[in-house]
Amino acid sequence: MVIIMLGAPGTGKGTVGKMLSEKFGIPHVSSGEIFRSYSKKHGTVSKIIQNYIDNGQLVPDELAINLMKNRLNESDVKNGVILDGFPRTIFQAEKLHEIFKKQERKVNIAVNLSLPDEEIIDRIVKRRTCPNPECRAIYNLDFKPSKKEGICDLCGTKLIQRADDNIETVKQRLETYHQTSEKLIDYYKNQDILYTVKLNSKSDVTTMGIAEEIKRYLGI
Ligand code: ADP
Ligand code: ZN
Repeated sequence: MVIIMLGAPGTGKGTVGKMLSEKFGIPHVSSGEIFRSYSKKHGTVSKIIQNYIDNGQLVPDELAINLMKNRLNESDVKNGVILDGFPRTIFQAEKLHEIFKKQERKVNIAVNLSLPDEEIIDRIVKRRTCPNPECRAIYNLDFKPSKKEGICDLCGTKLIQRADDNIETVKQRLETYHQTSEKLIDYYKNQDILYTVKLNSKSDVTTMGIAEEIKRYLGI
């Protein structure tokens, strides 16, 4: 099964993606996490990637596609994957289709999380993230605080605020989303595999029964 998470930054793609990963027993693969960890390891290329991320701009298609192609050819995702943050352009979506075609599979459903921009900004600046690569839990100072302030409930690591989770970069990321990635909604709608979840400030994505809806949608 292949599930794609669509939606602006801060709508909860990561949180929902992790939850679906547990329910369906298939890995959650986040392009943002891959690029952030890659940018810590590799000299000059890493600086280039970091620059795009810090400015709220998309990493160039060619680089993004290459990194994701490698990831999608690893053995743990051969029975299914939840893709969070990729594709983000129509070109990436077309390339993804080719990658999957070679593997004799296709995208089954694109889950689109929708939330008004004002609420997105508020959510992102209050987001805190566990930097432990094995954990990566996501918290929110308002509606999902950690039990002990600044400490991850699950692994005890000190929480961080992502460098790109500041108001200026968030505004730029939202602009990038509306100019480019939002087009994917129509792209998958035209293929008849779009499932939209409308959120509001009080929506708690973890209790919304999204997994059950998806099962019903896919008839499984
Ligand atoms: P969010 O969805 O909250 O913006 P992500 O972790 O998905 O956060 O992405 C963080 C940054 O990583 C993006 O702003 C962008 O610079 C880069 N990025 C992630 N996925 C892609 C992609 N598919 N193509 C290009 N750049 C990407
Ligand atoms: Zn943790």
